[in-house]
Amino acid sequence: MVFDTTLEFAYFRGEIVPFSEANISIGTHALHYGTGAFAGIRGYLDDDGETINIFRLRDHAARLLRSAKLLRMTLPHSVETVAETMIELTRRNAPTGDVYFRPLVYKASVQLTPRLLGLDDELAVFMLPMGDYLDTTRGQKVIVSSWTRVSDNAIPSRGKLTGAYINSAFAKDEAEEHGADDAIMLNEMGKVAEGSACNLFIVRDGVLITPPVTGDILEGITRRSVLTVAADLGIPAEQRAIDRSELYLADEAFFCGTGAQIAWIETIDGRTIGEGTPPPVAGKIGAELFDAFRGRSGRYGEWITKVAVREPAPAR
Ligand code: PMP
Repeated sequence: MVFDTTLEFAYFRGEIVPFSEANISIGTHALHYGTGAFAGIRGYLDDDGETINIFRLRDHAARLLRSAKLLRMTLPHSVETVAETMIELTRRNAPTGDVYFRPLVYKASVQLTPRLLGLDDELAVFMLPMGDYLDTTRGQKVIVSSWTRVSDNAIPSRGKLTGAYINSAFAKDEAEEHGADDAIMLNEMGKVAEGSACNLFIVRDGVLITPPVTGDILEGITRRSVLTVAADLGIPAEQRAIDRSELYLADEAFFCGTGAQIAWIETIDGRTIGEGTPPPVAGKIGAELFDAFRGRSGRYGEWITKVAVREPAPAR
């Protein structure tokens, strides 16, 4: 990210400071060994133009703290204080459009040993304006990556650990160099895991299928939301191992994630998925979710934290 694309203020070393002053030492442990964890959270500008609707803020904060636990961090934070920090930062930045939050916990000590214990831990947060991460107006062209998803016994995917994203970066580069938008990674068992930065669903004979949380995937919050919406719509869903060949035979396939939102897949390894047109099940679930993201859904209102960022216009 370049400087002028971020919003003005960041949270750094316990206070809100200008983003340009939120800088770390080149000796920082996390920079050398990938000993950090992060979250990616979206805030959508409400139809009233005065409110930011943050999607599942406390669920993201909880996952961040679980990742911190994997990294044996001691932080003076709870789900509530992480959430409050982000709400305060949102007020200070007063965004005028949709935003993305990037909270990061990291091993801040200047220390040469690759270890987890005995190091100082810090929380930092910055924000940037953000529209689509994948172009959701069209189908995605995807390849199955030749890179294997890191396994739970190497770097657990269920933690959103910074170092593990080298694995994602290998897959993303490979996809783009093959003219594709993204990659699907298989795990060490050869089963489907996830996209480079998103979870994956397929539909076969009307059944929604996604790999289980024991399949070397991130326990995605959008994934969980998709499963909830599917249950509410009466769409049967299974969490089970998916073979590579099932991808090619699927009636539908789509990515989901905070960045990706709901992005349907048109081709995998050059093979057309279903009819190669916007798929109906993904469409139905996506319509509910996009309403929920923007705070327009009564049913999923509890997923939204509303932050007032401007005074309401005076009544006429
Ligand atoms: N898998 C990976 C590897 C990711 O980076 C992301 C994005 N956070 C996801 C899945 C989707 O997770 P979520 O819905 O919580 O954003």
